[in-house]
Amino acid sequence: MTPSPRTFAELTTMRVGGAPRELREATTREQLIETALDVWGSNEPWLLLGGGSNTIVADEGFDGTVILIATRGISEVSTSFTVPAGRAASGPDAPTSHEGSIVIRVQAGEPWDDVVAFAVSRGLAGLEALSGIPGSTGASPVQNIGAYGQEVADVVSSVEFLDYLTGEVETIAVSELGFGYRDSIFKRGRLGIVLSVDFALTPSWRSDTVSDATALSLPIAYPQLADALGVAVGDRAELRRVRDAVLELRASKGMVLDPTDTDTVSVGSFFVNPIVTESFARTLPAGAPRYPLEAPVAQRVMPLDGSAGTQVAGVDGPTLVKLSAAWLIEAAGVKRGFGVPGSGAAISRKHTLAITNRGGATSDDIMGLARYVQALVQSHFGLILQPEPNLIGLEI
Ligand SMILES: Cc1cc2nc3c(=O)[nH]c(=O)nc-3n(C[C@H](O)[C@H](O)[C@H](O)COP(=O)(O)OP(=O)(O)OC[C@H]3O[C@@H](n4cnc5c(N)ncnc54)[C@H](O)[C@@H]3O)c2cc1C
Repeated sequence: MTPSPRTFAELTTMRVGGAPRELREATTREQLIETALDVWGSNEPWLLLGGGSNTIVADEGFDGTVILIATRGISEVSTSFTVPAGRAASGPDAPTSHEGSIVIRVQAGEPWDDVVAFAVSRGLAGLEALSGIPGSTGASPVQNIGAYGQEVADVVSSVEFLDYLTGEVETIAVSELGFGYRDSIFKRGRLGIVLSVDFALTPSWRSDTVSDATALSLPIAYPQLADALGVAVGDRAELRRVRDAVLELRASKGMVLDPTDTDTVSVGSFFVNPIVTESFARTLPAGAPRYPLEAPVAQRVMPLDGSAGTQVAGVDGPTLVKLSAAWLIEAAGVKRGFGVPGSGAAISRKHTLAITNRGGATSDDIMGLARYVQALVQSHFGLILQPEPNLIGLEI
């Protein structure tokens, strides 16, 4: 078979990795289903790829078929609301309701930030703090993307899913998706393809105006974003202003893709923020940020012994605390901009949590730096940082 002309260095935002054996791109929902059933039927290794912004592949490439998801489409699926007198936004695509949610259905390959822009332009709140996150919509529930106090778990109402085991399309309700911090059933072995995602968004207008330009966000939940907007945590702000402020904050940290800025050649945060027991958190230095989780949830607790971690189940578990991986890395002595001499991999100059490809890095370079950071944090604090991206043919 002819080797794929496109390498993972071209298909992923980390810009490393060799070629897959085969690449099959699907641009319609029907083509995606047909392609997947065909590839799965061959019993060869397969890999799903959307925007490639959370995937790092080995320099040797992938000895199997990549299904590249490039389906498009955003539609409003729930419009059965009454429009309060004098409050309807104008235009053919304007939302038709003020009360309750409006549900939009987004095909998996739709670029995530286009969806946020769509929602904001129509005065629909719920996604605005997730502005600027790269990648595809189908991947958004996989790791429950989140930023600046919002997560998709808060707004996903259901997922249309092609199940690998049955070959059938089913609808999975949000209650069955097992969402947690950067976690869902799709990260825990539920194999298949997210074909489309339904989001229940809040049409939120000021009481005396009708324009989408003055539509309000959900309450701002993140202090740094509230500061940037000049409001208090818990206040609302104009949707467009929230989107602009998030994009500006993210750009200052190298967290918006920019072809001219090598600090953005990354997978975003390389490590997830560790979730540990309260008793373990007490062993850390006084300055270590600690964020008690509101209600104990099923989460993976970082191990102290090099094992894969312990799954702490639900309400009866110990009180859990989220730590800041960036703080731990800096406190272990890793500085922004640090790079191993002779390697193209470096810590971002703008954010300690991002490992970047400054140009010419190999997958091995990236993983070598990741292992170095992990080892330093382990030796200082006794916990093993866990990688956020999907690693293919690579180990940490
Ligand atoms: C600069 C930068 C900033 C980032 N900031 C954030 C952030 O603030 N918050 C955050 O949460 N993430 C962030 N990320 C990570 C990344 O953007 C998200 O995880 C995004 O959702 C990945 O989408 P993708 O399409 O690129 O995924 P890919 O890398 O293509 O795939 C990721 C995983 O999802 C699987 N997958 C992809 N599509 C589907 C599908 N349709 N059905 C089932 N499985 C699928 C893949 O097989 C793979 O396991 C950032 C990344 C970068 C580069």
